[in-house]
Amino acid sequence: MQQFSDAKAVVQALAPDEAVILNRPHAAQRAARFFTEKFPGKVLYAVKANPSPDLIRILWDAGVTHYDVASIAEVRLVREALPEATLCFMHPIKTPRAIAEAYHQHGCTTFSLDTLEELDKIVEACRDPETGEAAQDLRLAVRLRVSSEYSELSLAAKFGCDLMDAPELLQTARQHCDWLGVCFHVGSQAMSPFAYVQAIDRTRAAIAEASVVIDMVDVGGGFPSVYPGMEPPPLEDYFQIINQHFYALPIAYNAELWCEPGRALVAEYSSLVVKVDKRRGEELYINDGAYGALYDAAHVGWRFPVKALEDDLRDPEMDFAFYGPTCDDADFMEGPFPLPADIQAGDYIEVGMLGAYGAAMKTGFNGFGNAEQFVVTDEPMASLFDGSRERPEADNVVSLR
Ligand SMILES: *Cc1c(COP(=O)(O)O)cnc(C)c1O
Repeated sequence: MQQFSDAKAVVQALAPDEAVILNRPHAAQRAARFFTEKFPGKVLYAVKANPSPDLIRILWDAGVTHYDVASIAEVRLVREALPEATLCFMHPIKTPRAIAEAYHQHGCTTFSLDTLEELDKIVEACRDPETGEAAQDLRLAVRLRVSSEYSELSLAAKFGCDLMDAPELLQTARQHCDWLGVCFHVGSQAMSPFAYVQAIDRTRAAIAEASVVIDMVDVGGGFPSVYPGMEPPPLEDYFQIINQHFYALPIAYNAELWCEPGRALVAEYSSLVVKVDKRRGEELYINDGAYGALYDAAHVGWRFPVKALEDDLRDPEMDFAFYGPTCDDADFMEGPFPLPADIQAGDYIEVGMLGAYGAAMKTGFNGFGNAEQFVVTDEPMASLFDGSRERPEADNVVSLR
Protein backbone atom coordinates (compact mmCIF):
# COMPACT_ATOMS: atom_id res chain seq x y z
CA MET A 1 0.00 0.00 0.00
CA GLN A 2 1.37 3.40 -1.03
CA GLN A 3 2.30 5.63 1.89
CA PHE A 4 1.75 9.36 2.51
CA SER A 5 2.36 11.62 5.48
CA ASP A 6 -1.29 12.65 5.84
CA ALA A 7 -4.58 13.40 4.08
CA LYS A 8 -3.35 16.73 2.67
CA ALA A 9 -0.43 14.99 1.00
CA VAL A 10 -2.84 12.51 -0.60
CA VAL A 11 -5.02 15.32 -1.95
CA GLN A 12 -2.01 17.25 -3.26
CA ALA A 13 -0.61 14.20 -5.01
CA LEU A 14 -3.80 12.69 -6.42
CA ALA A 15 -6.74 15.15 -6.25
CA PRO A 16 -8.97 12.04 -6.08
CA ASP A 17 -12.42 12.13 -7.66
CA GLU A 18 -13.65 9.23 -5.55
CA ALA A 19 -13.54 8.74 -1.79
CA VAL A 20 -10.23 7.41 -0.46
CA ILE A 21 -9.62 5.39 2.71
CA LEU A 22 -6.52 6.22 4.76
CA ASN A 23 -5.16 3.60 7.15
CA ARG A 24 -2.95 4.10 10.18
CA PRO A 25 -1.26 0.83 11.11
CA HIS A 26 0.48 2.46 14.08
CA ALA A 27 -2.87 3.42 15.61
CA ALA A 28 -4.28 -0.11 15.37
CA GLN A 29 -1.04 -1.52 16.74
CA ARG A 30 -1.15 0.87 19.70
CA ALA A 31 -4.77 -0.01 20.52
CA ALA A 32 -4.01 -3.74 20.30
CA ARG A 33 -1.01 -3.43 22.61
CA PHE A 34 -3.11 -1.46 25.07
CA PHE A 35 -5.77 -4.16 25.18
CA THR A 36 -3.40 -7.14 25.28
CA GLU A 37 -1.28 -5.53 28.00
CA LYS A 38 -4.01 -3.98 30.16
CA PHE A 39 -7.14 -6.08 29.84
CA PRO A 40 -6.98 -8.65 32.67
CA GLY A 41 -7.82 -11.59 30.38
CA LYS A 42 -7.86 -12.73 26.78
CA VAL A 43 -8.65 -10.29 23.96
CA LEU A 44 -10.59 -11.48 20.89
CA TYR A 45 -10.90 -9.15 17.93
CA ALA A 46 -14.51 -8.94 16.64
CA VAL A 47 -13.72 -9.25 12.94
CA LYS A 48 -16.98 -7.74 11.68
CA ALA A 49 -15.86 -4.26 12.79
CA ASN A 50 -13.32 -4.31 9.95
CA PRO A 51 -12.34 -7.54 8.16
CA SER A 52 -9.32 -6.11 6.32
CA PRO A 53 -6.62 -8.83 6.13
CA ASP A 54 -3.91 -6.15 6.49
CA LEU A 55 -5.51 -4.96 9.71
CA ILE A 56 -5.93 -8.50 11.02
CA ARG A 57 -2.22 -9.15 10.49
CA ILE A 58 -1.34 -5.91 12.30
CA LEU A 59 -3.43 -7.01 15.30
CA TRP A 60 -1.83 -10.47 15.27
CA ASP A 61 1.67 -8.93 15.25
CA ALA A 62 0.62 -6.79 18.22
CA GLY A 63 -0.38 -9.85 20.24
CA VAL A 64 -4.06 -10.52 19.41
CA THR A 65 -4.22 -14.30 18.96
CA HIS A 66 -8.01 -14.93 19.15
CA TYR A 67 -10.63 -13.81 16.63
CA ASP A 68 -14.40 -13.55 17.07
CA VAL A 69 -15.85 -14.58 13.72
CA ALA A 70 -19.55 -14.47 12.86
CA SER A 71 -19.89 -16.03 9.39
CA ILE A 72 -18.21 -18.77 7.41
CA ALA A 73 -16.71 -16.09 5.16
CA GLU A 74 -15.05 -14.51 8.21
CA VAL A 75 -13.83 -17.94 9.33
CA ARG A 76 -12.17 -18.51 5.93
CA LEU A 77 -10.77 -14.99 5.76
CA VAL A 78 -9.06 -15.09 9.16
CA ARG A 79 -7.82 -18.66 8.62
CA GLU A 80 -6.30 -17.59 5.29
CA ALA A 81 -4.62 -14.50 6.78
CA LEU A 82 -3.54 -16.16 10.05
CA PRO A 83 -3.05 -19.95 9.87
CA GLU A 84 -2.28 -20.13 13.61
CA ALA A 85 -5.01 -17.88 15.01
CA THR A 86 -7.67 -19.26 17.36
CA LEU A 87 -11.10 -18.84 15.80
CA CYS A 88 -14.22 -18.49 17.94
CA PHE A 89 -17.56 -18.64 16.13
CA MET A 90 -19.58 -16.26 18.29
CA HIS A 91 -22.73 -15.69 16.22
CA PRO A 92 -25.53 -17.48 18.09
CA ILE A 93 -27.30 -18.51 14.86
CA LYS A 94 -25.22 -20.54 12.42
CA THR A 95 -26.04 -22.95 9.62
CA PRO A 96 -25.08 -26.61 10.15
CA ARG A 97 -22.80 -26.44 7.10
CA ALA A 98 -21.00 -23.36 8.41
CA ILE A 99 -20.47 -25.05 11.80
CA ALA A 100 -19.21 -28.25 10.17
CA GLU A 101 -16.77 -26.44 7.87
CA ALA A 102 -15.48 -24.24 10.71
CA TYR A 103 -14.94 -27.26 12.97
CA HIS A 104 -13.73 -29.95 10.57
CA GLN A 105 -11.75 -27.80 8.10
CA HIS A 106 -10.59 -24.73 10.01
CA GLY A 107 -9.99 -26.07 13.52
CA CYS A 108 -12.60 -23.85 15.16
CA THR A 109 -13.81 -25.50 18.39
CA THR A 110 -15.40 -22.56 20.23
CA PHE A 111 -19.04 -21.75 19.47
CA SER A 112 -21.65 -19.53 21.08
CA LEU A 113 -25.34 -20.40 21.35
CA ASP A 114 -28.48 -19.06 22.95
CA THR A 115 -31.00 -21.92 22.46
CA LEU A 116 -31.20 -25.70 22.85
CA GLU A 117 -31.83 -25.86 19.10
CA GLU A 118 -28.48 -24.27 18.35
CA LEU A 119 -26.76 -26.56 20.86
CA ASP A 120 -28.16 -29.55 19.02
CA LYS A 121 -27.04 -28.11 15.68
CA ILE A 122 -23.48 -27.67 16.95
CA VAL A 123 -23.28 -31.13 18.51
CA GLU A 124 -24.59 -32.80 15.33
CA ALA A 125 -22.45 -30.78 12.88
CA CYS A 126 -19.24 -31.52 14.80
CA ARG A 127 -19.67 -35.34 14.96
CA ASP A 128 -17.00 -37.45 13.27
CA PRO A 129 -18.44 -37.96 9.78
CA GLU A 130 -17.09 -41.54 9.62
CA THR A 131 -17.83 -42.92 13.08
CA GLY A 132 -20.64 -40.57 14.13
CA GLU A 133 -18.82 -40.06 17.43
CA ALA A 134 -19.52 -36.79 19.25
CA ALA A 135 -16.74 -34.17 19.31
CA GLN A 136 -14.68 -34.31 22.51
CA ASP A 137 -13.11 -30.87 22.25
CA LEU A 138 -16.07 -28.49 22.00
CA ARG A 139 -15.86 -25.22 23.90
CA LEU A 140 -19.33 -23.74 24.24
CA ALA A 141 -20.36 -20.26 25.32
CA VAL A 142 -23.97 -19.55 26.27
CA ARG A 143 -25.00 -16.04 25.23
CA LEU A 144 -27.10 -14.27 27.84
CA ARG A 145 -29.44 -11.41 27.05
CA VAL A 146 -28.33 -8.30 28.91
CA SER A 147 -29.41 -4.68 28.92
CA SER A 148 -28.03 -2.15 26.40
CA GLU A 149 -29.13 0.84 28.45
CA TYR A 150 -25.65 2.34 28.76
CA SER A 151 -24.75 1.99 25.08
CA GLU A 152 -25.21 4.11 21.99
CA LEU A 153 -26.14 1.12 19.79
CA SER A 154 -28.29 -1.66 21.23
CA LEU A 155 -27.56 -5.34 20.80
CA ALA A 156 -30.14 -6.41 23.36
CA ALA A 157 -33.17 -7.35 21.28
CA LYS A 158 -31.86 -9.89 18.85
CA PHE A 159 -29.72 -12.43 20.66
CA GLY A 160 -29.28 -13.87 24.09
CA CYS A 161 -30.96 -16.39 26.31
CA ASP A 162 -33.38 -15.03 28.92
CA LEU A 163 -32.52 -15.51 32.56
CA MET A 164 -35.51 -17.86 32.89
CA ASP A 165 -34.14 -20.25 30.26
CA ALA A 166 -30.44 -19.93 31.07
CA PRO A 167 -30.18 -22.63 33.79
CA GLU A 168 -31.54 -25.41 31.57
CA LEU A 169 -29.41 -24.33 28.62
CA LEU A 170 -26.25 -24.13 30.76
CA GLN A 171 -26.92 -27.55 32.31
CA THR A 172 -27.60 -29.20 28.96
CA ALA A 173 -24.61 -27.54 27.24
CA ARG A 174 -22.41 -28.72 30.11
CA GLN A 175 -23.22 -32.34 29.18
CA HIS A 176 -21.70 -31.82 25.71
CA CYS A 177 -18.42 -30.10 26.56
CA ASP A 178 -15.57 -30.03 29.05
CA TRP A 179 -15.30 -26.29 28.82
CA LEU A 180 -18.33 -24.09 29.27
CA GLY A 181 -18.48 -20.32 29.13
CA VAL A 182 -20.99 -17.53 29.38
CA CYS A 183 -20.94 -14.54 27.02
CA PHE A 184 -22.96 -11.39 26.47
CA HIS A 185 -22.82 -8.06 24.65
CA VAL A 186 -23.76 -4.84 26.42
CA GLY A 187 -24.29 -2.91 23.16
CA SER A 188 -21.78 -0.93 21.15
CA GLN A 189 -20.10 2.25 22.44
CA ALA A 190 -20.97 1.62 26.09
CA MET A 191 -20.49 5.03 27.67
CA SER A 192 -20.22 3.73 31.25
CA PRO A 193 -18.33 0.84 32.87
CA PHE A 194 -21.54 0.04 34.78
CA ALA A 195 -22.87 -1.52 31.59
CA TYR A 196 -20.61 -4.47 32.44
CA VAL A 197 -21.55 -4.53 36.11
CA GLN A 198 -25.23 -5.13 35.39
CA ALA A 199 -24.34 -7.78 32.82
CA ILE A 200 -21.99 -9.61 35.18
CA ASP A 201 -24.67 -9.49 37.89
CA ARG A 202 -27.05 -11.20 35.49
CA THR A 203 -24.35 -13.75 34.75
CA ARG A 204 -24.02 -14.42 38.46
CA ALA A 205 -27.75 -15.07 38.76
CA ALA A 206 -27.71 -17.49 35.81
CA ILE A 207 -24.72 -19.43 37.10
CA ALA A 208 -26.05 -19.67 40.65
CA GLU A 209 -29.42 -20.94 39.47
CA ALA A 210 -27.85 -23.51 37.12
CA SER A 211 -25.21 -24.79 39.60
CA VAL A 212 -22.79 -25.69 36.82
CA VAL A 213 -19.04 -25.19 36.65
CA ILE A 214 -18.18 -22.20 34.45
CA ASP A 215 -14.74 -22.09 32.80
CA MET A 216 -14.96 -18.77 31.03
CA VAL A 217 -16.80 -15.45 31.16
CA ASP A 218 -16.73 -13.37 27.97
CA VAL A 219 -17.77 -9.77 28.52
CA GLY A 220 -18.11 -9.18 24.77
CA GLY A 221 -17.53 -5.92 22.95
CA GLY A 222 -18.98 -2.50 23.61
CA PHE A 223 -15.75 -0.78 24.67
CA PRO A 224 -16.07 2.80 23.43
CA SER A 225 -13.96 4.93 21.15
CA VAL A 226 -14.01 8.73 21.15
CA TYR A 227 -16.24 10.80 18.83
CA PRO A 228 -17.62 14.37 18.90
CA GLY A 229 -20.04 14.55 21.83
CA MET A 230 -19.03 11.10 23.06
CA GLU A 231 -16.09 11.28 25.45
CA PRO A 232 -15.98 8.05 27.43
CA PRO A 233 -14.22 7.49 30.75
CA PRO A 234 -10.76 5.86 30.50
CA LEU A 235 -10.77 2.22 29.35
CA GLU A 236 -8.73 1.37 32.46
CA ASP A 237 -11.87 2.09 34.50
CA TYR A 238 -13.79 -0.49 32.46
CA PHE A 239 -11.03 -3.08 32.84
CA GLN A 240 -10.74 -2.51 36.58
CA ILE A 241 -14.45 -2.79 37.27
CA ILE A 242 -14.80 -5.89 35.05
CA ASN A 243 -11.87 -7.56 36.79
CA GLN A 244 -13.25 -6.84 40.22
CA HIS A 245 -16.72 -8.21 39.45
CA PHE A 246 -15.35 -11.19 37.55
CA TYR A 247 -13.37 -12.33 40.60
CA ALA A 248 -16.48 -12.22 42.74
CA LEU A 249 -18.33 -14.71 40.49
CA PRO A 250 -18.99 -18.30 41.63
CA ILE A 251 -16.85 -19.88 38.88
CA ALA A 252 -13.97 -22.36 38.52
CA TYR A 253 -10.81 -21.09 40.28
CA ASN A 254 -8.95 -21.15 36.96
CA ALA A 255 -11.82 -19.68 34.92
CA GLU A 256 -10.79 -17.40 32.07
CA LEU A 257 -11.95 -13.84 31.41
CA TRP A 258 -12.42 -12.85 27.76
CA CYS A 259 -13.44 -9.72 25.90
CA GLU A 260 -14.34 -9.15 22.23
CA PRO A 261 -13.63 -5.53 21.29
CA GLY A 262 -14.35 -4.40 17.74
CA ARG A 263 -14.84 -0.64 17.80
CA ALA A 264 -12.28 0.28 20.47
CA LEU A 265 -9.54 -1.75 18.81
CA VAL A 266 -9.89 -0.44 15.27
CA ALA A 267 -11.86 2.85 15.17
CA GLU A 268 -8.63 4.83 15.00
CA TYR A 269 -7.23 2.74 12.15
CA SER A 270 -8.99 4.53 9.26
CA SER A 271 -10.22 7.87 8.06
CA LEU A 272 -11.82 8.87 4.78
CA VAL A 273 -11.07 11.66 2.31
CA VAL A 274 -14.17 12.93 0.51
CA LYS A 275 -14.59 15.64 -2.10
CA VAL A 276 -17.30 18.30 -2.02
CA ASP A 277 -19.06 18.00 -5.39
CA LYS A 278 -21.60 20.73 -4.74
CA ARG A 279 -22.69 23.15 -2.03
CA ARG A 280 -26.30 24.21 -1.44
CA GLY A 281 -26.44 26.56 1.52
CA GLU A 282 -25.62 24.55 4.63
CA GLU A 283 -25.61 21.25 2.76
CA LEU A 284 -22.53 19.73 1.18
CA TYR A 285 -22.88 17.05 -1.47
CA ILE A 286 -19.94 14.68 -0.94
CA ASN A 287 -18.83 11.44 -2.57
CA ASP A 288 -19.47 8.95 0.25
CA GLY A 289 -22.55 8.39 2.37
CA ALA A 290 -25.31 6.05 3.53
CA TYR A 291 -24.19 3.16 1.31
CA GLY A 292 -20.52 3.79 1.95
CA ALA A 293 -18.16 4.25 4.85
CA LEU A 294 -20.53 6.85 6.33
CA TYR A 295 -23.33 4.31 6.87
CA ASP A 296 -23.63 5.10 10.60
CA ALA A 297 -23.59 8.86 9.99
CA ALA A 298 -26.70 8.42 7.84
CA HIS A 299 -28.57 5.61 9.56
CA VAL A 300 -27.99 6.29 13.25
CA GLY A 301 -26.90 9.93 13.13
CA TRP A 302 -23.35 9.13 14.29
CA ARG A 303 -21.17 12.23 14.37
CA PHE A 304 -17.70 11.55 13.06
CA PRO A 305 -15.01 14.23 13.39
CA VAL A 306 -14.33 16.26 10.22
CA LYS A 307 -11.50 18.47 9.02
CA ALA A 308 -11.26 20.67 5.90
CA LEU A 309 -8.12 19.90 3.91
CA GLU A 310 -7.68 23.24 2.07
CA ASP A 311 -5.18 25.73 3.48
CA ASP A 312 -6.93 28.81 2.07
CA LEU A 313 -10.21 28.55 4.00
CA ARG A 314 -10.31 31.45 6.43
CA ASP A 315 -13.86 31.75 7.73
CA PRO A 316 -14.95 30.57 11.16
CA GLU A 317 -16.67 27.22 11.28
CA MET A 318 -20.38 26.67 10.78
CA ASP A 319 -22.47 23.52 10.95
CA PHE A 320 -23.09 21.57 7.75
CA ALA A 321 -25.15 18.52 6.81
CA PHE A 322 -23.98 16.12 4.10
CA TYR A 323 -25.66 14.48 1.15
CA GLY A 324 -23.99 11.31 -0.16
CA PRO A 325 -23.49 10.52 -3.86
CA THR A 326 -26.42 8.18 -4.63
CA CYS A 327 -29.72 9.28 -6.17
CA ASP A 328 -32.05 8.96 -3.17
CA ASP A 329 -32.97 11.23 -0.29
CA ALA A 330 -31.98 8.54 2.26
CA ASP A 331 -28.36 9.26 1.42
CA PHE A 332 -28.28 12.12 3.93
CA MET A 333 -26.19 12.78 7.02
CA GLU A 334 -27.55 15.36 9.37
CA GLY A 335 -24.40 15.85 11.44
CA PRO A 336 -23.86 18.61 12.42
CA PHE A 337 -20.40 18.66 10.84
CA PRO A 338 -18.54 21.88 11.70
CA LEU A 339 -16.39 23.17 8.79
CA PRO A 340 -15.11 26.56 7.62
CA ALA A 341 -18.03 28.65 6.33
CA ASP A 342 -16.26 29.39 3.02
CA ILE A 343 -15.89 25.71 2.04
CA GLN A 344 -17.11 25.09 -1.51
CA ALA A 345 -17.36 22.60 -4.36
CA GLY A 346 -13.97 21.12 -5.23
CA ASP A 347 -12.68 21.21 -1.64
CA TYR A 348 -11.73 18.07 0.27
CA ILE A 349 -12.72 16.94 3.76
CA GLU A 350 -11.19 14.26 5.98
CA VAL A 351 -13.69 12.29 8.09
CA GLY A 352 -12.04 10.55 11.02
CA MET A 353 -12.53 7.48 13.24
CA LEU A 354 -13.89 5.22 10.51
CA GLY A 355 -11.78 2.13 11.16
CA ALA A 356 -14.69 0.38 12.89
CA TYR A 357 -18.03 0.00 11.09
CA GLY A 358 -16.88 2.58 8.51
CA ALA A 359 -14.47 1.22 5.95
CA ALA A 360 -16.24 -2.14 6.37
CA MET A 361 -19.64 -0.76 5.35
CA LYS A 362 -18.79 0.39 1.81
CA THR A 363 -21.08 -1.08 -0.86
CA GLY A 364 -21.05 -0.71 -4.64
CA PHE A 365 -24.60 0.72 -4.76
CA ASN A 366 -25.13 3.16 -7.60
CA GLY A 367 -21.52 2.69 -8.75
CA PHE A 368 -19.89 4.53 -5.86
CA GLY A 369 -18.13 1.60 -4.21
CA ASN A 370 -14.55 2.23 -5.26
CA ALA A 371 -12.21 3.43 -2.58
CA GLU A 372 -8.47 3.38 -3.02
CA GLN A 373 -6.62 2.77 0.23
CA PHE A 374 -3.35 4.31 1.37
CA VAL A 375 -1.25 4.23 4.51
CA VAL A 376 -0.71 7.52 6.33
CA THR A 377 1.65 8.14 9.21
CA ASP A 378 0.01 11.04 11.07
CA GLU A 379 -2.12 10.69 14.19
CA PRO A 380 -5.84 9.82 14.03
CA MET A 381 -8.21 12.75 14.65
CA ALA A 382 -8.82 11.50 18.18
CA SER A 383 -7.23 8.77 20.24
CA LEU A 384 -7.80 6.88 23.46
CA PHE A 385 -4.28 5.51 23.34
CA ASP A 386 -1.87 8.40 22.64
CA GLY A 387 -1.70 9.51 26.27
CA SER A 388 -3.60 12.73 25.51
CA ARG A 389 -6.62 12.00 27.69
CA GLU A 390 -5.43 10.36 30.88
CA ARG A 391 -8.36 11.50 33.05
CA PRO A 392 -11.07 13.40 31.21
CA GLU A 393 -13.23 15.69 33.33
CA ALA A 394 -15.60 13.73 35.51
CA ASP A 395 -18.69 15.64 34.44
CA ASN A 396 -18.49 14.99 30.72
CA VAL A 397 -17.65 11.34 30.92
CA VAL A 398 -20.94 9.53 31.21
CA SER A 399 -24.05 10.09 29.18
CA LEU A 400 -26.67 7.94 30.85
CA ARG A 401 -30.00 7.61 29.14
C1 LIG B 1 -20.25 -6.76 17.16
C2 LIG B 1 -19.80 -7.70 18.21
C3 LIG B 1 -18.66 -7.42 18.97
C4 LIG B 1 -17.90 -6.12 18.86
O1 LIG B 1 -18.62 -5.07 19.42
P1 LIG B 1 -17.99 -3.61 19.60
O2 LIG B 1 -19.11 -2.83 20.17
O3 LIG B 1 -17.57 -3.16 18.26
O4 LIG B 1 -16.84 -3.73 20.53
C5 LIG B 1 -18.26 -8.36 19.90
N1 LIG B 1 -18.93 -9.52 20.07
C6 LIG B 1 -20.03 -9.82 19.35
C7 LIG B 1 -20.70 -11.13 19.59
C8 LIG B 1 -20.51 -8.93 18.41
O5 LIG B 1 -21.61 -9.22 17.71
